[in-house]
Amino acid sequence: MGAADSGMHDVDLLIVGAGPCGLAAAISAQRAGLRARVLDAGAIASTITQYPYYVKFFSTAEKLALGGMPFLVADDKPTRREGLAYYRAVVRHFGLDVHQHERVTHLERSERGWMVHSQTIEGERQRTTARAVCVATGYFGSPNLLGVPGESLPHVSHVYREGHGAYDQDVVVVGGGNSAAEATLDLWRAGARVTLVHFGPTFDKKIKPWVLPDVENRMKEGAIAARWESRVSSIEPGTVTIRGPEGEERLAARFVYVMTGFAPNTALLADAGVPIDPVTGIPQHDPTTLETCEPGLFIAGVVVAGYDANKIFIENGRFHGDQIVARLLGQTAPAAPRLSAELDS
Ligand SMILES: Cc1cc2nc3c(=O)[nH]c(=O)nc-3n(C[C@H](O)[C@H](O)[C@H](O)COP(=O)(O)OP(=O)(O)OC[C@H]3O[C@@H](n4cnc5c(N)ncnc54)[C@H](O)[C@@H]3O)c2cc1C
Repeated sequence: MGAADSGMHDVDLLIVGAGPCGLAAAISAQRAGLRARVLDAGAIASTITQYPYYVKFFSTAEKLALGGMPFLVADDKPTRREGLAYYRAVVRHFGLDVHQHERVTHLERSERGWMVHSQTIEGERQRTTARAVCVATGYFGSPNLLGVPGESLPHVSHVYREGHGAYDQDVVVVGGGNSAAEATLDLWRAGARVTLVHFGPTFDKKIKPWVLPDVENRMKEGAIAARWESRVSSIEPGTVTIRGPEGEERLAARFVYVMTGFAPNTALLADAGVPIDPVTGIPQHDPTTLETCEPGLFIAGVVVAGYDANKIFIENGRFHGDQIVARLLGQTAPAAPRLSAELDS
């Protein structure tokens, strides 16, 4: 990017999404002398605000750190609250230009760059011109719906926060991944009567190794019920109707947690003309530079992995900004960081 280009735009790099990977990209850009701005529809690291209240990260603090700023915690893994405090401190420490509660609504190609349309929480429409745009919109906010009647009833939730309100209540958890397993255990520990419903014959393979024996042992001893190879056909107030190997069954359920994961937020990219692979959900891009087929439009963070949210995490997505900035400066991008053993497990 030539110096002459810089003055033509409000910013050099406009980043959509103030998640860990978007913030990391802003630090990389700022360090390279580029003017970066981040717009987020919610607050800084709003995805982490959606985690269960008392969850701990599976990564050590060191692997969640951005821009080399130390992330020190007393225990082995940070809590959700410590993570939120750290990412707020990152924004302050690096003096990042972050506009919170301002949703990007449309990316428009303009002469020698992009026009970014956004809307603040007060309804004010904004326009920002940028030489390049990085979409780091993550995947929260687009839950994988079951598509069954009753899914939008008020006692049905696609996120899990805590079990207290389910004490002494019948609860159904739908799903077989890590979030379903952890919610099931937490609800049982809070005194709920839990039934897990999953279309597969067992839990998914990628469950945290310390969670799996815990939940499986509770099931073996009959403390938690499970219905494998079963699909939800409808949800009613007080019950969930499922169809499994034994035929149709109605399970009592005062609360229903649908823990079936999320799809990446790629609507802005599709709208800007970037093809999204219908099978993998991956936006078409060059894996070395992370530039899409639209010049100057980049992707970063978990959206890079499409539907496979187990491939990109904070641990590795925090390096995407370096690849993008290298491209903007006309340099060779650094080698993609290897996944840690923890991520492979
Ligand atoms: C319970 C749980 C525990 C986890 N623990 C770990 C862990 O230990 N280690 C790890 O590496 N990963 C962990 N993850 C995964 C991690 O949270 C994600 O990989 C990470 O948040 C992805 O970062 P990101 O910056 O790509 O996207 P996100 O963090 O999802 O951020 C995307 C941001 O984009 C914003 N946005 C979306 N659309 C728009 C728009 N149109 N305009 C403006 N803003 C928009 C959103 O508001 C959001 O703030 C965990 C996930 C969960 C659910």
